[in-house]
Amino acid sequence: MPDVIKLLPDAVANQIAAGEVIQRPASAVKELLENAIDAGADHIQLIIKDAGKTLIQVVDNGAGMSDTDARLCFERHATSKIEQASDLFAIRTMGFRGEALASIAAIAKVELKSSTEEVGIGTQIIIEASRVSTQTPCNCPKGTSIAVKNLFFNTPARRNFLKSDNVEKRHILNEFQRLAIVHPDISFHFYQNNQLTHQLNKTNLKQRIAHLFGSNYNQKLIPVKEETQIVDVTGYVGKPEFAKKVRGEQFFFVNKRFIRSPYLNHAVDLAFHDLIPDDAFPTFFLFLETAPEQIDVNVHPTKTEIKFQDERYFYQIIKSAVKRALGAFNITPTLDFDRESAFDNLPKDANRPIKQPGINIDPDYNPFNDDGKAAPYKQGSLTSRINPQQWEQMFPGKEDVPIPKEPRGSDQVTISADWEDKKEGNGEKKFSQLHNRYILTPVKSGLMVIDQQRAHERILFERFKILLQNRSMASQQLLFPENIVLNENDADILKEIIEEIRNIGFGINELGKTTFVIDAVPVDLAEDHVLQDVVEGIIEQVQKNKLDLKLDMRTNVLRSLAKRLAIRHGKALSREEMTALADSLFACEMPQQSPAGKPVLTIISNEELASRFK
Ligand code: ADP
Ligand code: MG
Repeated sequence: MPDVIKLLPDAVANQIAAGEVIQRPASAVKELLENAIDAGADHIQLIIKDAGKTLIQVVDNGAGMSDTDARLCFERHATSKIEQASDLFAIRTMGFRGEALASIAAIAKVELKSSTEEVGIGTQIIIEASRVSTQTPCNCPKGTSIAVKNLFFNTPARRNFLKSDNVEKRHILNEFQRLAIVHPDISFHFYQNNQLTHQLNKTNLKQRIAHLFGSNYNQKLIPVKEETQIVDVTGYVGKPEFAKKVRGEQFFFVNKRFIRSPYLNHAVDLAFHDLIPDDAFPTFFLFLETAPEQIDVNVHPTKTEIKFQDERYFYQIIKSAVKRALGAFNITPTLDFDRESAFDNLPKDANRPIKQPGINIDPDYNPFNDDGKAAPYKQGSLTSRINPQQWEQMFPGKEDVPIPKEPRGSDQVTISADWEDKKEGNGEKKFSQLHNRYILTPVKSGLMVIDQQRAHERILFERFKILLQNRSMASQQLLFPENIVLNENDADILKEIIEEIRNIGFGINELGKTTFVIDAVPVDLAEDHVLQDVVEGIIEQVQKNKLDLKLDMRTNVLRSLAKRLAIRHGKALSREEMTALADSLFACEMPQQSPAGKPVLTIISNEELASRFK
């Protein structure tokens, strides 16, 4: 048997590695910006054409590269940032794997100019599909400019996989924002198709956030600061009343590196739990600084996932830090929220669980007023003290219920039949409302408990679906057309779904890049809705559904609209409203499931009740 194993030529190996590191134009943007930051630049220009598909260029005023380095940097595993394996546990730079430039050069045409000299004599290299075509001396200022042209030109599968320009631009903007937030001390100019879209001067963190997300952020942010032996947490969280729509504005950075962590997100959610509606998302920009040995960033090629030595410490500390910040601004129902002293003496690798801070809450306090916004905290109403376990029980995390594949047909028949029987009876229906959240009503087999919000979502969803099928979504002309201004992300998403939005009865048109005018709305839209909120809510929901599920766009938009317009938990309902809601629910095809597949109602059976009195 002849030997069959061969070493892959470098160009091929690089192309394979490129698949992991460079998934889309935004990945190249991230790598190039990170290199510029690592090179110590304090002014960086990012230049993009056609959503990065034809050009991505980053120009920095950092340290620059020597002639030899400029050639070497395109070799795989060429890095100036680590020398030995042990350095991996003390990483302070953004890059260290030495893969990015080699990967990019394997799948694009790259032109590099770099100089280490103030006098501005440097070197220029042109490289395409891993082959250097020229290296010549050139005039260029100190620093480095790297232009990446025709990304994925030789990997058609990858190129075809790219999304629309709007989507790719949004990814690029996300990467840009993440790095710009962490480095307010660097000035950035961002050009898209020859237009300067972002000019960020050197400033502090708060101003940088305001420059990126809107000047009103100055009033929206509460500072967070917590120093412990293991980790320092700093940054800002948004005041609860602004937590309307903002998934995009949730940022965790660990040692200046943006990371995703649903687990740590949950810690923040919990800190906000009784302050914002269930379907709202808090805004946060949180920076964790920890010794590099505490974390491992080398678990994923794009380095957005990291491993913590002990994630639970981080979880508890973040939760406490956010609660304390909110408490200090008198927003949480806390009185004695002093800094948790247990964190001062944490042994570095002890396994013992951390004691949670005690919290004073008012169990009757309803955080939502009728319009679903957070109600202000009433100082006088603190009554009891509960322990953390009770707290967790009262406000469990928002766990997602998996969507059942088939409707549970048989129960559905019995429950609906139960309902019909009830109507046949003396015709009188008794309803009461529990905690402004559940509707209770006796049925033949026991006590039916209906979740009012989910029930209404189901009703609206089915109604919209039918109207849309019949092409009869009625639209109501507005007397005064309203303009709404969105952030860039949201504007891009809206452009993608604008046809569907029109189909459901909105008269909506683009006015400018991020401005839209609405001159008609679906007739179901109650008058007290603020249009801006509704549209942002739909966008948010659409984006969320898109992440979670493979829905077609129409179902996604319908579901989002139903969710946005449904009555909320916290809304008191009159007897008539409860009757109407229950009647409409049981006229639905699938009364038992919300559009997202969660249970709408349950019955506590007579037997179960009886068994409790044994
Ligand atoms: P890594 O960043 O992981 O080291 P890269 O492939 O991104 O790997 O870069 C390889 C090397 O090229 C870097 O270690 C650095 O020495 C050099 N380099 C890349 N970009 C720049 C830049 N903008 N300025 C100076 N040096 C750079
Ligand atoms: Mg790098």
